[in-house]
Amino acid sequence: MERTLSIVKPDGIQKHLIGEVIKRFQDHGLKVIGLKMISMDKKEAEGFYAVHRGKPFYGSLTTFMSSGPSVVMVLEGEGAISKTRELMGATDPKQAKEGTLRRQFATNIEKNVVHGSDAPETAAFEIQYFFNALEIFEY
Ligand code: UDP
Ligand code: MG
Repeated sequence: MERTLSIVKPDGIQKHLIGEVIKRFQDHGLKVIGLKMISMDKKEAEGFYAVHRGKPFYGSLTTFMSSGPSVVMVLEGEGAISKTRELMGATDPKQAKEGTLRRQFATNIEKNVVHGSDAPETAAFEIQYFFNALEIFEY
């Protein structure tokens, strides 16, 4: 079974989309095995998005991600990484397919409601960034 990390970003929290996002994932066979509300500071957001350091959007992205609380979750299921990304839609909501979370709810390419890991290695890094072993559950 594959695992991935998803985040309801600060804009998703402001738009009251926590339940909507979790329901979408669960309705498509993903199991929530870790879940919490956090508030990243700038340094924590910079560490999480370290792969994007140096890109033009890095400063604004990490300010946005540290602007308020987020909900972080570990999802488990067959093909969890690609399934989560399919349900999220493309990074830019204008490019995202009809019916995806970002198409439906995102404000713009930055404030796009939800995060999902993009590969097994990034999923492993991102899960351990927010969760220790005692915070992930088998059921
Ligand atoms: N982002 C942005 N401008 C861009 C590309 C990305 O503000 O031109 C933000 C956006 O919030 C995105 C995050 O940076 O979700 C991470 O970018 P990535 O390319 O990894 O997109 P994702 O994997 O989230 O679809
Ligand atoms: Mg990404």
